[in-house]
Amino acid sequence: MLRWNGYGEETITFPLSDSAKSYFSKILGGPKSPPDVERSAVIIPPPCHFSKTHPLLQFDDEIRLRHARGQSFPDLAAKRFGEFSRFPDAVAFPESESDVNELLAWAKHVGVQLIPFGGGTSVVGGINPISHEEDDRPVLTLSLARLNALRNLDKTSRLATFGAGTQGPHIEAQLRAHGFTLGHYPQSFEHSSLGGWVAARSSGQQSLGYGRIESLFAGGKIETPSGRITLPTLPASAAGPDLRQLILGSEGRLGIITEAVVRVSPVPETESFYGVMFPDWPTGIDAVREAIQSDIPLSMMRLSNPTETEAFLNMPAHQNQVDLLRALLRWRNFTSENCLMLFGVSGSQRMTKFARQAMVSLARQRQGLWLTEIVGRQWAKTRFRSAYLRDTLWEHGYAVDTLETAVSWSMIPKASQVILHALADAGSPVWPMVHLSHIYHDGASLYFTFFFRVGATLEETMLRWRALKEAGSKAVMSVSGTITHQHGIGTDHRLYLAQEKGALGMEVLKTVQTILDPLGMMNPGKLM
Ligand SMILES: Cc1cc2nc3c(=O)[nH]c(=O)nc-3n(C[C@H](O)[C@H](O)[C@H](O)COP(=O)(O)OP(=O)(O)OC[C@H]3O[C@@H](n4cnc5c(N)ncnc54)[C@H](O)[C@@H]3O)c2cc1C
Repeated sequence: MLRWNGYGEETITFPLSDSAKSYFSKILGGPKSPPDVERSAVIIPPPCHFSKTHPLLQFDDEIRLRHARGQSFPDLAAKRFGEFSRFPDAVAFPESESDVNELLAWAKHVGVQLIPFGGGTSVVGGINPISHEEDDRPVLTLSLARLNALRNLDKTSRLATFGAGTQGPHIEAQLRAHGFTLGHYPQSFEHSSLGGWVAARSSGQQSLGYGRIESLFAGGKIETPSGRITLPTLPASAAGPDLRQLILGSEGRLGIITEAVVRVSPVPETESFYGVMFPDWPTGIDAVREAIQSDIPLSMMRLSNPTETEAFLNMPAHQNQVDLLRALLRWRNFTSENCLMLFGVSGSQRMTKFARQAMVSLARQRQGLWLTEIVGRQWAKTRFRSAYLRDTLWEHGYAVDTLETAVSWSMIPKASQVILHALADAGSPVWPMVHLSHIYHDGASLYFTFFFRVGATLEETMLRWRALKEAGSKAVMSVSGTITHQHGIGTDHRLYLAQEKGALGMEVLKTVQTILDPLGMMNPGKLM
């Protein structure tokens, strides 16, 4: 059973070790139990009246509650304080394209807002009904959960066709049964869907090896209020602009992705993850850039700044391993400026051996301390579990959120400094840190995590969060970074999109949206 007021399965938690508890006490003060309402205390108003109903609609309160908010920090706070603002009036679970089309026709006729819902893991308000003041039409949330099967696998072309609601573990299980993998692993892998990945331009932790979703998404079907768009699956085409690029990142505004064809790869013969400690942030950045620009075939690489490295060392599952590591760092005269790099190799024995050796030699040239496979293995073991930390922290009175951007290499040092300072100066006690998370030839994404304290009320908590979010987002804009590298726009980044696209660019997007959705019924208030 999924948590109604947090992330993931109710039976899974991410407990704080003793050293993690004392770390948080040191950076933010002692723990405190914040308000945390019981499920029975949440008031769910009756649904709005539809002028005509439809047999696929469900009005059950529990279902409406579980489709009301996503997984952003404001969503978590709203759930924990029991103040949801608005619920969908009905939820539908179509089982076929024809069900989707029937619902679209009904929605047009009745005059409702329609929100496509994949796994509901949006961290930018992507699946939340907007306020009555912004749009008073009744809300139908359309879950793709039942369009969840592998429909075709062309092993020769390495193309797999899935229903868009298929979630990460199901995708991998079905492909691996045939010896293939998609290799797309966002941290939310266990609960997010293929359609959601495409609609929000997601990036998996191993995008370095397998590519982001935009290179994996080869084609598909999109049902729009104006009709179906079929994106043919072609290896390449010079036939004008690529319409796939319009659907990628469309966030439910242009239509409902019902089917997606993805490029798959054979399951790698071997896969390992390693850690290297660099003496400081500039040395680490140079090492990461050199590794990528010299085309060492890695599947994953990230580099934590000193604050994040220290946080990592304070969350151990095995304290004795960390004690050993700290002793080793002291022996090598590493200071508190240490930066942890993690990287992964996936593929044939021969290729991964070559990549590993190339990394050993690069680490040696850059005064890096090789940490063997233990650190990398620990990361891999908790790569999806660490998503549960946010709920544990909340229960101790601590809040955590993230902010991400991407800039070119020449801007990386300045951008990381400017954004960290902006977060640190944004009022309430805050503890910001950063890592390079997705690496490209010309630049990288910067992924910021910031810890602060939960307030006594929702209002106080949101005031603190808003100050941090606004300061961080403005700092991102000031260094000409993208407002989002992988999380999308939703409602939370809407304000900043025009600066990135330009006025004419926004006109183009709005015109396309008006053609495909003349009534403006598709996920209003998101993206634009
Ligand atoms: C703990 C955690 C970790 C995360 N880590 C990552 C990460 O590593 N990388 C990353 O990229 N993101 C990450 N995310 C963000 C989120 O998981 C992604 O944005 C993901 O792509 C959303 O997929 P979903 O199926 O949950 O979509 P939803 O949240 O259901 O929807 C997201 C948006 O897409 C639209 N949409 C969904 N399905 C369809 C469809 N079939 N047709 C049309 N529109 C649709 C929705 O209307 C909404 O606007 C994380 C989120 C959490 C909570």
